[in-house]
Amino acid sequence: MTGSTLNEIQPINFPGQESRLPIVIAGPCSAESEQQTLDTARALSAIGVKVYRAGIWKPRTMPGGFEGVGDQGLSWLQAVKRETGMKVATEVATVEHVRAALDAEIDILWIGARTTANPFAIQNIADELQGHGQVTVLVKNPVNPDLDLWLGALQRFYNAGITRFGAVHRGFSSAGAHIYRNDPQWHIPFELRRLAPGMTLLCDPSHIGGKREFVEPLSQLAMDAGFDGLMIESHCCPDEALSDSAQQITPDALKSLLDKLVVRSGVPIEDELALLRQQIDDCDHELLAVLARRMSISREIGRFKKANSLRVVQPARYQDVMRARIDEGNRLGLDEDFTQRIIQAIHEESVSQQLDILNNS
Ligand code: PEP
Ligand code: MN
Repeated sequence: MTGSTLNEIQPINFPGQESRLPIVIAGPCSAESEQQTLDTARALSAIGVKVYRAGIWKPRTMPGGFEGVGDQGLSWLQAVKRETGMKVATEVATVEHVRAALDAEIDILWIGARTTANPFAIQNIADELQGHGQVTVLVKNPVNPDLDLWLGALQRFYNAGITRFGAVHRGFSSAGAHIYRNDPQWHIPFELRRLAPGMTLLCDPSHIGGKREFVEPLSQLAMDAGFDGLMIESHCCPDEALSDSAQQITPDALKSLLDKLVVRSGVPIEDELALLRQQIDDCDHELLAVLARRMSISREIGRFKKANSLRVVQPARYQDVMRARIDEGNRLGLDEDFTQRIIQAIHEESVSQQLDILNNS
């Protein structure tokens, strides 16, 4: 990115950071009622959490879902602040949200992944924040794996005079089946850290994992990779949550996670070898997801061939595909033998999937 001054950024100090633990921001995906907001906040405060999160304006991918309680949730967050002394954080996506949140003295505003992907929205929010240097802004990565969009959003806040801001890695949307809800593509936050070494970098294992059981291992991974802290969704009754129910954990589960968390010092996030290995892991995840997609298409073809009494193996088609793939591999600098072996193995598996359909379904 040209014109970036993000390498000048200094880390932010969060309450609670003086302890052994990293920065911990926890709270429900959404504030749903005053009772749920306060019950969860009390339980989190009791286990030592100092920064509380709750969304009140919820950007949902599809209409018709729970879209947040809106402005009334601000007074619940104020009650959390008064009663527990925790700092409070909520997501803002429009200028109106920013005004309302600033009026309500919300301490931390976070920008959601769908908003970071839109430079117009970011610029409007940044303009609205001019002159409000006291507020902390956390910028989640955009939904798509585009580091420049993320950097661009951070730069817009920096240009607007915000000095207390940080980035939150919450994974990236991607096509195909993945174990995680949002593909982590760790090399992207690692590259962000390399470009802006002083900037506070948090990980949101809840939105990466999408399921409760992934939150703990992903949190440890983030610590091992040198992230400064975690934003974790925690709800007093996760099974009843109106949004992101599957990924929210109870305050008790959060306590056990934090007790077990091993925080290592001096693991440089920009460690060259770790970065390269992470990229290899990312490639393997992508390869497996693509292979799974390819096999499901093969099964679909198997069903079509069965319905139309066609032969499973069509030699002419196979020869054409092999020749085309080897040529393509050559253009990409891949060894011919290697391409041939891979395509053969994939083809064999496709045939066996189709035979399976023919014989068993
Ligand atoms: C959230 O934090 O609840 C949220 C909507 O996150 P994201 O923007 O990462 O999807
Ligand atoms: Mn959520």
